[in-house]
Order: sequence, then C-alpha cells, then structure tokens
Amino acid sequence: MNETDVLIIGGGPVGPALALDLRSRGVACMVLETMDGRIRHPGVGTVGPRSMELMRRWGLAERIRKAAGTVTIRSTSPG
Ligand SMILES: Cc1cc2nc3c(=O)[nH]c(=O)nc-3n(C[C@H](O)[C@H](O)[C@H](O)COP(=O)(O)OP(=O)(O)OC[C@H]3O[C@@H](n4cnc5c(N)ncnc54)[C@H](O)[C@@H]3O)c2cc1C
Repeated sequence: MNETDVLIIGGGPVGPALALDLRSRGVACMVLETMDGRIRHPGVGTVGPRSMELMRRWGLAERIRKAAGTVTIRSTSPG
C-alpha cells in the first residue's frame, strides 16, 4: 500500500499546485484524479497575477511566459 502525508483529491489546477507547494516545503503528497488527463475544453485563457507569483516561487514563471501566446487587450467601452 502507498503511504503519504497528504492525499490530494483532484488534478485540476488547484490539486497539482498544492502538490508543488507541499513538495517545495518537503511534505510528501499524492494527487488522485478520476480523469485520464485529456481535457476536451481548456479552462484557462489567462493567468492572474497571484497565480504568476506562485509560479515564480516554484521557478516556473519563465517557462510559462515562453509557452504562452501573445494576447491583445482592447477596450470595449466607447471612446
Ligand atoms: C470556460 C472556462 C474558462 C475559464 N477560464 C479561466 C481563465 O482564463 N483563467 C483562470 O484563472 N481560470 C479560468 N477558469 C476557472 C478555472 O478553470 C477554475 O478556477 C479551476 O479549474 C478550478 O480548479 P480546481 O482544481 O479547484 O477544480 P477543477 O478544475 O474542477 O478540478 C477538479 C478536479 O478534481 C477531479 N475530481 C473530482 N472529484 C474527484 C474524485 N472523487 N476523485 C478524484 N478526482 C476527482 C475532477 O475530475 C477535476 O479534474 C475558467 C473556467 C471555465 C469553465
């Protein structure tokens, strides 16, 4: 039987992010996910500032920036 300190249920964005943070602090954890890993509709089009702060802490910010496409933001308000 596998043993772990923390069992995380769900491999959406939050589960693996929690696992990254726990492992970076030396806490053993395991993520359980019911799906097979393929997603039909990506849920994330933008990554917010707080998420990027966490990515920077885990040393992933540059890889994410390089993998991301360019987004052009236009105002929809008149004038
Ligand atoms: C159309 C759309 C667009 C979005 N765009 C953005 C965006 O641009 N930027 C952004 O930051 N957020 C966006 N979001 C929100 C973002 O997708 C959610 O905030 C995020 O997915 C929540 O993550 P989560 O891990 O809490 O939950 P979820 O993503 O719902 O993941 C939960 C996981 O747990 C698994 N699970 C459930 N029950 C069990 C079980 N009993 N055992 C094992 N596994 C289980 C599920 O299969 C699932 O994979 C968008 C959402 C939608 C729907």
